Amino acid sequence: METILKEIKIVKNVMEKNNQLANTIREILVSKKQSMFNFMSSPGSGKTTLLDKLIPFLLSKGYKIGIIEGDVQTDNDAKKLQHHNIPIALINTSRFGGSCHLASNVILGAIEELKEEEIDIILIENVGNLICPASYDTGSDKNLVILSVTEGEDKPLKYPGIFRKTQSAIINKIDLAPILETDMNQIITNIKQINPDSKIFQISAKTSVGIEELGLWIIENHQIKYMNL
Ligand code: MG
Ligand code: ZN
Repeated sequence: METILKEIKIVKNVMEKNNQLANTIREILVSKKQSMFNFMSSPGSGKTTLLDKLIPFLLSKGYKIGIIEGDVQTDNDAKKLQHHNIPIALINTSRFGGSCHLASNVILGAIEELKEEEIDIILIENVGNLICPASYDTGSDKNLVILSVTEGEDKPLKYPGIFRKTQSAIINKIDLAPILETDMNQIITNIKQINPDSKIFQISAKTSVGIEELGLWIIENHQIKYMNL
């Protein structure tokens, strides 16, 4: 019994420390007039392809973009985004014991790495995982979860935590929905059941459908944050 209590206390301390650092990150972002958006999903949902389409849209609207790219290993995804000629901070969590999420101390390091760059909006590609990334506050202004239609309609019900903690849910690969006979209304109903306030986007990163709508939402949130400053 004692051991269990001790473990709970340790976890609590880790989370408290993570939240403190996330608040430090928020202060740094405000001092630099930056916003940060944290994209989470299971592996293979299309995060990198989505960012590959989102980046040029945001650049075309005059915003300077920076990327924090999280992966357990490899620089594959960072390389895929390199052609946009924007600053990218790569985090390989294998250096920190292969973490399946990005904790705020690691994000703080990435922000340090990007500090000399002129950036308005930072996009985080979190490690592909639907469980613990949601528990770690990264200091982001908004958290988004991506699920692709290939993952099945009941994903939001099976992994409610991440859908509850995110302000937006992106349904990706909608170009495949007719082929897979995906029930889009059922996915939306399931998301709303877990989080009625979640802003839902229906996107095909492949065909770029829905990218503009998502980009405008990001810009709107960035502008609201600094409206009175
Ligand atoms: Mg990726
Ligand atoms: Zn983890």
